[in-house]
Amino acid sequence: MTRQNDIDFLGDFRMVIDGRTEGSEKTIEVINPATEQPVGHAPDCSADQLDAAIASARQAFMSWKATPIAERQALLRAIADRIESIVEPLALLLTREQGKPLADARGEILRATQWFRFYAEQDLPVGRHTEPGGQEVTVRRVPLGVVGAIAPWNYPISMALWKLAPALLAGNAVVLKPSPFTPLTTLKLCEALIDILPPGLVNALSGGDNLGPWISEHPGIDKIAFTGSTATGRAVMRSSAANLKRLTLELGGNDPAIVLPDVDVEETAGKLFWAAFRNNGQLCVAAKRIYVHDSIYDDFAAAIGKIARSTAPAPGEQEGAVLGPVQNRIQYDKVRGLIAASRAAGLGFLSEPGSFDGPGFFIAPTIIDNPPEDARIVQEEPFGPVVPLLRYHDIDEVIRRANESEYGLAASVWAKDADLAEEVAVRIESGTVWINTAHILSPSIPFSGRKQSGIGVENGKEVLLEYTGIQAIIR
Ligand code: NAD
Repeated sequence: MTRQNDIDFLGDFRMVIDGRTEGSEKTIEVINPATEQPVGHAPDCSADQLDAAIASARQAFMSWKATPIAERQALLRAIADRIESIVEPLALLLTREQGKPLADARGEILRATQWFRFYAEQDLPVGRHTEPGGQEVTVRRVPLGVVGAIAPWNYPISMALWKLAPALLAGNAVVLKPSPFTPLTTLKLCEALIDILPPGLVNALSGGDNLGPWISEHPGIDKIAFTGSTATGRAVMRSSAANLKRLTLELGGNDPAIVLPDVDVEETAGKLFWAAFRNNGQLCVAAKRIYVHDSIYDDFAAAIGKIARSTAPAPGEQEGAVLGPVQNRIQYDKVRGLIAASRAAGLGFLSEPGSFDGPGFFIAPTIIDNPPEDARIVQEEPFGPVVPLLRYHDIDEVIRRANESEYGLAASVWAKDADLAEEVAVRIESGTVWINTAHILSPSIPFSGRKQSGIGVENGKEVLLEYTGIQAIIR
């Protein structure tokens, strides 16, 4: 039995399989992006260990699916209590491996815990009606089996717990796989749950590039809940075809923000700065294209440029840090490449990325001044601290430009006239539109990507339908 007080949160990272911790023959090194030094080594799960985890999850599923919902709800509350009791050591570890400021790491974990509290209050709907011929029909929602939950590196804990809470409430067992860039906090969090979970109900596996494909191909997994890039989402879909796995795919975005001419420029620039640069822009729903009306463009550019020039990134553990480093070397190089391409194309900069001398993958918030619509910085998802500010002239034009994207994740509209903003909002092809705010994500609001941004839904009561199948009983 593991007690959270006995856990060394900063060392000896092990997977959780069948209610026990396990190392592995090989390991992967996890780098602190603020120092480029190792934070620790995570097990590199073998194919045999994956088989063992899935076998134990299948075993746990047999009794969990028959466990009364009140007991499942109670377990969700116990998980929330346990995570809340270890926020501080988890947050420090999350900052070291992910890079984000300590306050943001703490916030991520505490907010994600609310998903357990919300789903602990939910039930599975049962539909009943009588057919014209007199037959009584009961429509039940039944759990699917073993869920493979695959998370990215930008919000490792939220993206894992958004899946875990509804999957468990619905009666499924879970095999959870964090990103190889940020596996450590997830492993420790799951280790800290061992003594309150039935063995095998939640397995946490870390590994390199093989592990994701093994999970999405494995016949012992019934559903994949995936958050990551659109390219990987396509690969998951292909390899899930063999046993027709159920899929939820939360993928990339290139979210437009539309600023109407009646806004308070200073106030909106302040809010939009954080809508674009929170977590260094490494947020699926960051504002990634900011369209500003021609009549206020120059004032807006001056205001947001000033904020960017006075907001420097710093190591996440440093007192007062508001932005950390970019999370990993690959992403750092990709973002620097986009900045270099913008410079080579002769584009103007409202704020500069700063020096790349290191140590650490630091890039200051960089704003590109009105690039052409076909520039790479407008068309691609940078997923880093660089954003284009774009000039528009009329509403129809900006809506067309906003919608000319393969993505449809989220968007925002900024205006004093909120009714006018809503008229714009309904014409945007995205699963979420915020008006005069951004990043309001809650367990009670369904979150869903349109077009190449995903399939299915997370959050809301709607997600419970994604973790269950239908059984109609007619008598
Ligand atoms: P990624 O697609 O590279 O990796 C995501 C996860 O998938 C990782 O755990 C990775 O190890 C795993 N993986 C890689 N190849 C796999 C395969 N073939 N089969 C199964 N799993 C595989 O994404 P990332 O770089 O970690 O995250 C950044 C991307 O995630 C961005 O595009 C961002 O917009 C997106 N994202 C989307 C949301 C959302 O809710 N829509 C939220 C956060 C991030």
